[in-house]
Amino acid sequence: MPELPEVETVRRGLEPAMVGARFTKVTQRRPDLRFPFPERFSERIEGQEVKALGRRAKYLLADLSSGEVLVMHLGMSGRFLVTRDGATRVPGEFHHEHGGLGAHDHVIFQLSNGATVTYNDARRFGFMDLVPRSEIETSKHFASMGIEPLGNELSGETIARLFAGKRTPLKAALLDQRLIAGLGNIYVCEALFRTGLHPEAPAGSLVNKTGEPTDKAHQLADIIRDVLAEAVEAGGSTLRDHAQVDGSLGYFQHSFRVYDRENEPCLTPDCTGTITRLVQSGRSTFYCPECQKRS
Ligand SMILES: [Zn+2]
Repeated sequence: MPELPEVETVRRGLEPAMVGARFTKVTQRRPDLRFPFPERFSERIEGQEVKALGRRAKYLLADLSSGEVLVMHLGMSGRFLVTRDGATRVPGEFHHEHGGLGAHDHVIFQLSNGATVTYNDARRFGFMDLVPRSEIETSKHFASMGIEPLGNELSGETIARLFAGKRTPLKAALLDQRLIAGLGNIYVCEALFRTGLHPEAPAGSLVNKTGEPTDKAHQLADIIRDVLAEAVEAGGSTLRDHAQVDGSLGYFQHSFRVYDRENEPCLTPDCTGTITRLVQSGRSTFYCPECQKRS
């Protein structure tokens, strides 16, 4: 499943192909993906210019000149293929040969700049919607969504406000999309490790008695942003170096310090700990019991 940094990498890859261009033809090849397409989908998009391509959590948002926003979610296996000047690229991974339409090519956007953007999704957990710009924040997609972890909103103060009084384990609170939107399992494990916080510590332990953020709360906010920004940067550099890369970008695994490293030695200098796995809410948590003490 693409995590937030991969979605941001995809956004950056799509931006030059879409922004400032008009949709000249939109081909929708099935009535639904995870959900039905909105009514008159292609008709509402054709002829519109893409004013901007944004991202909110794991959603891509294309602002159309009609005042509607094309909302796109990649689900589990969605990806975009960009064909321009005879070459096909998949933002977030690389795809050298793309002859004709594949079975899983569900939407084909043709743009006035000559680019073709194809949405491919083998498992069809992705979806698309059209929402008026003025209603985007209150739409079903975003109404109960928490703050954006890559933005300036995430701070020690915000963490204190969101986590005050909560006995929920820190890991679960960080994965709660109603509090912070788009933080996935991998990046939460990494951020807790780098901050030296135990994943089962109560979320409220980051707030002192007067409601102020603890030092660890400030550190955690900075580290979450760093971990995500590093992953976006890794995706971006792989995009730039695509001539030497023929595999999938995947989950930037080379940079993980704890995720999926059960029984391997901790990478903190001088730490003799061993990375340990525990299961929280049905999902694996990886941590170092030496670096991440409970109190
Ligand atoms: Zn350690």
